[in-house]
Amino acid sequence: MLHDRDRIFRNLYGFHDAGLKAAISRGAWDGTKAFIDKGHDWIIDEVKKSGLRGRGGAGFPTGLKWSFMPKADPRPSYLVINADESEPGSCKDREILRHDPHLLIEGALLASFAMRAHTSYIYVRGEYIREREALQRAIDEAYAARLIGKGNVHGWDFDLYVHHGAGAYICGEETAMLESLEGKKGQPRLKPPFPANVGLYGAPTTVNNVESIAVAGDILRRGATWFADLGLPNNTGTKLFQISGHVERPCVVEEEMGIPMRELIEKHCGGVTGGWDNLLAVIPGGSSVRCITAEQATDVTMDFDALGKLGSGLGTAAVIVMDKSTDIIAAIRRIAYFYKHESCGQCTPCREGTGWMWRVLERMERGEAEKREIDLLFEVTKQVEGHTICALGDAAAWPVQGLIKNFRPVIEARIDQYQKSHAREAAE
Ligand code: SF4
Repeated sequence: MLHDRDRIFRNLYGFHDAGLKAAISRGAWDGTKAFIDKGHDWIIDEVKKSGLRGRGGAGFPTGLKWSFMPKADPRPSYLVINADESEPGSCKDREILRHDPHLLIEGALLASFAMRAHTSYIYVRGEYIREREALQRAIDEAYAARLIGKGNVHGWDFDLYVHHGAGAYICGEETAMLESLEGKKGQPRLKPPFPANVGLYGAPTTVNNVESIAVAGDILRRGATWFADLGLPNNTGTKLFQISGHVERPCVVEEEMGIPMRELIEKHCGGVTGGWDNLLAVIPGGSSVRCITAEQATDVTMDFDALGKLGSGLGTAAVIVMDKSTDIIAAIRRIAYFYKHESCGQCTPCREGTGWMWRVLERMERGEAEKREIDLLFEVTKQVEGHTICALGDAAAWPVQGLIKNFRPVIEARIDQYQKSHAREAAE
């Protein structure tokens, strides 16, 4: 279990003031100028050494991503911070935005300096109105204290803008976010070119998650080795976990990467409702990853590699717990509807496939299907997965694959039950 002294987010629950003075007393903005004086490459190297992997879901090494930005380019460079937290189950970035915004602002300055960017945008989810207000208050304070802005005390001119989205999930996809920031419809771009080469306004851009940026200051303050020693090899540091669903006390908590899932649920959430034996399934990383069974959940650790080996993923570490009262077909059907609704419609496999999967699941939930359709449905998920412009296609396909892989007998039993009751009706 993570020691209190190793916590980065010391005001996660908003028990203390989020303002500048209080943030400084908790350690924010301490030594920032000294880090900048050490140079762009020193910061990137430290973040690389820390082993930090992107906290938005993909788990790509953050320092490496920063190093892709050009060092001498006549175009301006940009850092875009993804605060469009819209994945069902994910609710961690909002706690940083409203309770610890100065860690994010300091991280934005450090990351922007490392990548030679003088401007950064924070793209906030449309529904996060209070969060945007809290963030803007903190940014105003930072400008007033000359921590950021032109001619600031750190010696690196830096402007930070908040952009409020309009509530479309797809704008959380990095290139759709850039389109949206440019004032266009939020539709993903074909890659390549990648944003580090052609990003916002055609200039080099890096898009990072809120948590990835907010931990940067503490990594530099306490040292890359401190961060790398927490967690597991290749899965280092602390992580914000969000646990919802059938647990006694749903919560957001900072823990070490690689904590056993069972320990996370039992120590921080008071356990599964009705006890561990009442567990049916867990979606470990936000609604887009494949669910795992109770048996798998018993031994797995919460990290990118262990969950990846099970065919699932850490994603945003949004753990959705389902006990045995759950109709798992209905749960996945509801998720399928979400992705159908959020598809931007550019690619045929995603536009048509998401609706197709949802409609079949609607029938399967009632048992009104043929057993051969289970394999057909699986085949359709394979036609969607990997055949689209952005990852929303995969995000729609994986939950359905998880259902079929782990709960095929439940679907078959539902079909049998339906057929039996109809045969009885016909006989009467
Ligand atoms: Fe749009 Fe779906 Fe294609 Fe992504 S995969 S670009 S959301 S249609």
